[in-house]
Amino acid sequence: MSLSRRLTLTVVLASLVTALVLGLGALLSTRALFDRYVQQTASGRQQMLAQTLAGYYAERGNWQGVEQVLNGLPVGGSRPGMMGGGWGRMGSGGMGPPVGGAGASNAGPAVWALLDSDGRPVAASPQTPLDPGTGLPAGLARPVDMPIESGGRVVGHLLLSGELSSVLDALEAAFRRSLLGWLLVTGLVALGVGALAGWFASAGMRRRATALATAAAAVGSREFSARVPDEGDDELGLVARSFNRMAGDLQRSEQARRNQLADVAHELRTPLAVLRGQLELLEDGVIEPEPATFRSLQDDALRLSRLVADLEQLSLAEAGRLTLHWRTFSPAEWLAQEIETFRSAAAEAGIDLSAAVAGALPSDAQGDPDRLGQVVANLLANALRHTAAGGAVTVAAGANEGGWGFTVRDTGEGIAAGDLPHIFDRFYRVPQAGEAPAGAAAAERRRGSGLGLAIVKGLVQAHGGRVWVESSPGKGSAFYVWLPLQRPQMG
Ligand code: ADP
Repeated sequence: MSLSRRLTLTVVLASLVTALVLGLGALLSTRALFDRYVQQTASGRQQMLAQTLAGYYAERGNWQGVEQVLNGLPVGGSRPGMMGGGWGRMGSGGMGPPVGGAGASNAGPAVWALLDSDGRPVAASPQTPLDPGTGLPAGLARPVDMPIESGGRVVGHLLLSGELSSVLDALEAAFRRSLLGWLLVTGLVALGVGALAGWFASAGMRRRATALATAAAAVGSREFSARVPDEGDDELGLVARSFNRMAGDLQRSEQARRNQLADVAHELRTPLAVLRGQLELLEDGVIEPEPATFRSLQDDALRLSRLVADLEQLSLAEAGRLTLHWRTFSPAEWLAQEIETFRSAAAEAGIDLSAAVAGALPSDAQGDPDRLGQVVANLLANALRHTAAGGAVTVAAGANEGGWGFTVRDTGEGIAAGDLPHIFDRFYRVPQAGEAPAGAAAAERRRGSGLGLAIVKGLVQAHGGRVWVESSPGKGSAFYVWLPLQRPQMG
């Protein structure tokens, strides 16, 4: 069943149940009130009747001729089911001695009998045959016995047929019928209003859910630009926002995947083009097959295989599948060795390379020194490349609780604030001043693939460590690496 149909049905049911409960409550409470009202009216009338008869007896001292009076009085009522007549109507009309035929004219014959103080019948309703055994009217079953008192003693009993209950029953039945009629009308109205309200309430929800389903289907078929309108603070709005976020992430990662493929193709194209061009020149005899030519060819081939190796290493590191040969080593010794390998390059570039390895470094640390060596190498190579002759590159190291680290600081060109958040991204290269837009200079001299820092980050993270940078353009940069002392329990 659809969501909107279920919602409409719920609203309809809720309206119906409310209408029914309210109706039943009204029925029950009104019935109790109604019963009490009729009972009170009836007993009031009975007392007044008893007083009239007592007055009659007090005047005469006997019951002779009382049937004349009684026939004129509304002692009886209508037949059961006659609403508005009988006791009910007498109640509202008040009790005036003889009200004449007001009750008798439209009421059926009332059954009554008047007994004297000894229990002998002295008068009875004329229209009903007498029971030969009791001498009382035949229909006087379950009578209401109303003692008549005069002068402090009981002088007679007026027996009235138990019509009161049947009148009440009839009135109540009629009342209930009318209330049930109203209940039916109210129920139908509740049904209509509920259906309309449910339909309106679910219309917006239905529209938004359909939009979500359509967008989800679009994303499923790789249309990552699909979005849903972000309306409302309700749960559907929350789902819509989460969906849009998810679609945005998917779109970005799809874009990144495409960019990577394009970047890899681009990175490979340049050295391959150079290689192919040189081979063609060699074939055409334009250049001589001498050792310098072969060295240049080999350089290009080397650069290509380094790029492929970098890519492989990066993809392994990012997938968490890099094999690290963990062992215990002394960071101070290790760092001194790594720096040593760059001494001649620094001297060649006219840069002062110094180390400030603190004695406070722990003697034992766990890690893969070869992989970490590549971290230092990439950072030092970058520092030397981006620092002009006469500048300085300093490596400092230290330890803190649970870890140790080192900093490669240079007095070079620095990195602009806009580039800082991206320099650890793969293939990200800070455009050099005067450089043509990326991609336009296919034949430019290769100066770095933009993979160095991405590999640094991948290797440091594989060790459970962190790397970050601080830099001021024109003043220099500092790359910080922090590593845990112990091999972390990962995954
Ligand atoms: P590449 O191998 O091309 O140098 P990296 O990932 O190592 O790529 O560096 C990314 C970018 O960060 C480079 O384009 C470079 O401009 C910049 N960069 C890296 N290290 C430094 C540094 N010490 N000083 C200034 N810029 C740097």
